[in-house]
Amino acid sequence: MLPLVALVGRPNVGKSTLFNALTRSRDALVHDQPGVTRDRHYGVCRPEGQRPFMVVDTGGIAGEGEGLAGATTRQARAAAEEADLVLFVVDGREGASALDDEILAWLRKSARPTLLVVNKTDGLDVQAAIGEFARYGIGEVHATSSAHRQGIDTLIDRVLAKLPEEGTAEALDEDPNRIRVAFIGRPNVGKSTLVNRLLGEERMIASDVPGTTRDSVAIDMERDGRLYRLIDTAGLRRKSKVEEAVEKFSIVKTLQAIEQCQVAVVMLDAGEGVTDQDASVLGYALDAGRALVVAVNKWDGQTDYQRQQAEALLVRKLAFVEWAEAVRISAKHGSGLRELFAAIHRAHASATREFGTSEVTKAMEIAYESNPPPVVRGHVAKLRFCHPAGTNPPTFVVHGTRLRTLSDSYKRYLENFFRKRFKLVGTPVRFVFKEGT
Ligand code: GDP
Ligand code: GDP
Repeated sequence: MLPLVALVGRPNVGKSTLFNALTRSRDALVHDQPGVTRDRHYGVCRPEGQRPFMVVDTGGIAGEGEGLAGATTRQARAAAEEADLVLFVVDGREGASALDDEILAWLRKSARPTLLVVNKTDGLDVQAAIGEFARYGIGEVHATSSAHRQGIDTLIDRVLAKLPEEGTAEALDEDPNRIRVAFIGRPNVGKSTLVNRLLGEERMIASDVPGTTRDSVAIDMERDGRLYRLIDTAGLRRKSKVEEAVEKFSIVKTLQAIEQCQVAVVMLDAGEGVTDQDASVLGYALDAGRALVVAVNKWDGQTDYQRQQAEALLVRKLAFVEWAEAVRISAKHGSGLRELFAAIHRAHASATREFGTSEVTKAMEIAYESNPPPVVRGHVAKLRFCHPAGTNPPTFVVHGTRLRTLSDSYKRYLENFFRKRFKLVGTPVRFVFKEGT
């Protein structure tokens, strides 16, 4: 499970700047794709080689509004109260204010583990800036300049040190023969209808996975002789009327489900196209590098004309994940499910395929020779060799010289070349460029 870290602080101290510094992928190819919108309040920090954690900017949730009432609304408080760690962000330039004192008093009451982050310390005497807040008596204080990405990596180290150990009881065994699938999407697209249908058909062999908590229910299922684990289907089954009424779209649960699955099935409502919230869910799956299948649901309710409109819209709006298969289904009538599961299998097979160094180096050489990168200011990048560095998503490390001159479009060309050559569908593909021979 992803631990949850909440950013708390009065407006303007730099919470959203810090949020971006923590959660933005430094790979522009992954992050800055047109068509992806992201919820700016929730994100995942993925420190290289270390444990990822979820970040929620509670100030962002609170929206505008003055004073503590506005700055920490109920929702922000709830997020902070659930958090494994609170980062109390203050402004090193302005020093402590009355509003900071109020937030501090509330944090003391909530008794969550807290780390004080003195931000905007660029160009300041850091010790003096920190000293301003000494009377707060919060043991650990950390100085950052979020705007300049200073102190961020050490902050991440400190956060990781303070987060609870990964629960072994919750850890799900990873049976290589069982595909971990999560059905995600905004409310009302038909997730529970689909899962109930799948489990209804397979009632006899579906079983809750022991050791999962209420928040992370996994259900094992067999279908056409293949094994699956449906991830985080909590709330998808046996919803009471009351639960249904209070249950709202939970980004936290969506992020958890994405984290635990191998294949994310993002469900859309054919009648509503691709909304911002849909694009946001897709963006999170993309950031996590998960294999992806788009299930366009409620296809039954559409006239031919509406279907044509929907097809055109999907092509346009899903251009940023054009490698993902979009399957038309009706959860209600059970149509399209064979195609859906075939697509899940293709995505899973591509995402987990093992590569050898010689075949990927060969692919890189052919790509390079048939279309060398352009000369940039008298220099041209040389690609020397390539080796595989992981699956789900397939990751390739390219070694060479002057790699910094490679344009995004050249990187995309390489990616597409590899996709074609190795017939990779339904999975993102990552390239890492390493200077040196
Ligand atoms: P929030 O309201 O707490 O989310 O604050 P923002 O992230 O929107 O930042 C408020 C202002 O402070 C913006 O103009 C930022 O550019 C600026 N800011 C944020 N971090 C830093 C920093 O580390 N140093 C300086 N000098 N300015 C910063
Ligand atoms: P969830 O919030 O994503 O779990 O969505 P639900 O499964 O609760 O479905 C929301 C509504 O859409 C319900 O009224 C369903 O009956 C309806 N619905 C779900 N799947 C289909 C479908 O394939 N076709 C049609 N016409 N309606 C559907």
